[in-house]
Amino acid sequence: MRSPLHCLLPALLLSIAPTIHGQTHDLLIENAQVMTLDPTLGDLRETDVLLRDGRIAEIGQRLTVTDVERIDARGMLLLPGLVDTHTHLWLSAARGQFRNTPQTDYFLLKKHLARHYSPEDIRIGTYFGAVETLASGVTTTVDFFHNLRGPEHWEAARQALLESGIRARLLYGAHDDLKAEQSIDLEHLAEVAAQPAQGNLTLGLGWRGVGEGAPATLQTGRREIEAARSLGLPIAVHSGGARNAALIDSGLLGEDVQIIHATAATNAQVASFRAAGSSLSLTPITEHRVGYGLTLLSDYAAVGRLGLGIDGPALAGSADLFANMRLLALTESAANKAETAIEPRRILELATLEAARSIGMDKEIGSITPGKRADLILLDLNALNMASPGTNDPAALVVYSATTANVDTVIVNGVPLKRGGQLIGVDVPQVLERAQTSISAILNRAGGLPEVKPKL
Ligand SMILES: [Zn+2]
Repeated sequence: MRSPLHCLLPALLLSIAPTIHGQTHDLLIENAQVMTLDPTLGDLRETDVLLRDGRIAEIGQRLTVTDVERIDARGMLLLPGLVDTHTHLWLSAARGQFRNTPQTDYFLLKKHLARHYSPEDIRIGTYFGAVETLASGVTTTVDFFHNLRGPEHWEAARQALLESGIRARLLYGAHDDLKAEQSIDLEHLAEVAAQPAQGNLTLGLGWRGVGEGAPATLQTGRREIEAARSLGLPIAVHSGGARNAALIDSGLLGEDVQIIHATAATNAQVASFRAAGSSLSLTPITEHRVGYGLTLLSDYAAVGRLGLGIDGPALAGSADLFANMRLLALTESAANKAETAIEPRRILELATLEAARSIGMDKEIGSITPGKRADLILLDLNALNMASPGTNDPAALVVYSATTANVDTVIVNGVPLKRGGQLIGVDVPQVLERAQTSISAILNRAGGLPEVKPKL
């Protein structure tokens, strides 16, 4: 029998108080330029948005409300909070370690460092990544936790996300040293799935998939996905190259599966993903960085349910979904040798409403629609890189001009987590110091960089 978790956890972990983000405010955002991303509401000028009990209550001009806190949003662009459909927050403190040499190659160095992560390192890295992600205008993230080495590691990631206040789906994953025939801890998965939901956190399976279809991998993959399905959990899986075909041949795809990257998928494979009802997450910056090739939206558009993702601030360089939007737009125009190959609004949808739809959360988030969760961001239109008098359609401004530095305000579930460009209740110097200490100790324990075997 397992020891109670509290015996195993550092005292620090227990001091975390998720309740700090539990109270919702009633808020009136006044005089904003609004992009609702709701197809029936469209873009609105000088508009007020009322937030009550964590939800969007009313949208209109000069709303008469007396009993609320007010945010003056003149000169600001109000958007639904960005939705990051794929990330790996635990690794965030390793940013800068991946330096594109044979020894610092992402996959090799990640595996080398990963086994030296304590639960406390997971907590520090996940929190660090989560607050950067929030500060960057992302209100929902899907955190594929693929260094899960035991219940304490899980609890550390969970607590860090709760503490940050971000809306997150934490995906129960494996780790790099788990053998093909070894399952993840399915008993623990069932245990955590049975726990009552807390804060803005939900769960899913960070599935290893079926590899390239070898019998042992296929058998383990089947056992894991069937366990997740019996618990009603959403599923995500990395794929690409030969794995695309193996995944399709396994017959295990379905509407509950999100495929990540699907690098080099053929048109027939894209059609199979669509036929299975699965969704796709594209992460242009990391896909370009590791050399998967150009992320061309037109190659994947037929999947139907698509969203953008960051794929971890460590590999992406930062938790910047604006930069991912821009890269996707530029790649499409460049590859097609046509500026008009892509509409900026379509790109913005892939980071908001379409992203929410791709992860099955569009009834709750992704647009500024009465009844949905109050997950919102304000961008400062008076910044030098954003000032654009007379713009009727701000979509191009968001995609080609905005940076994370323009994110003035971030609200999740009606709770402001960033105002005036500053995170609320986050001791940033302390977060940085802990991240630095953590990664230095991990590198020490790992004995420096990995050895690279010469290629025969
Ligand atoms: Zn990934």
